Amino acid sequence: MNQEDCIFCKIIKGEIPSTTIYEDEDFKVILDRFPAAPGHVLILPKTHVENIYALDDEIGAKLFPLAKKIANHLQGTLDLDGLNILQNNGETAGQTVFHLHVHLIPRKKGDTVNVKWKALHPSDEEMEAMRAKLSL
Ligand code: AMP
Ligand code: ZN
Repeated sequence: MNQEDCIFCKIIKGEIPSTTIYEDEDFKVILDRFPAAPGHVLILPKTHVENIYALDDEIGAKLFPLAKKIANHLQGTLDLDGLNILQNNGETAGQTVFHLHVHLIPRKKGDTVNVKWKALHPSDEEMEAMRAKLSL
């Protein structure tokens, strides 16, 4: 998807409506239109990048402090039991909008959100092989 067709770019430009809870020169924070839980928000960098591989370091450096600020705000206003922060890259990882964004998903005990996976049990040799492959 190119930038002209990007739904989040259109939201950022105000060409399609959104429910904005915070905005500064670099980011817009909106309510997810199809939330996993009440108060599910998306942090959108205003500059279009598809995914984390393309993210500018300066914007990236501002992203987690903003996530922390919004997390504290959600925690303080919604009295949460927990919070998931999620950022999908690529269709296989569940990305459906190809403009980088961070999900903040409020959690309450007994809610219907599911972010669990089935754990693998690699051997020590497999752990070592992966360490050798990934060490930087
Ligand atoms: P992802 O699957 O990580 O790409 O997340 C995309 C998110 O955007 C989903 O959670 C959608 O519910 C949400 N979404 C799609 N269209 C809109 C929209 N027009 N306004 C707000 N959120 C949207
Ligand atoms: Zn975009």
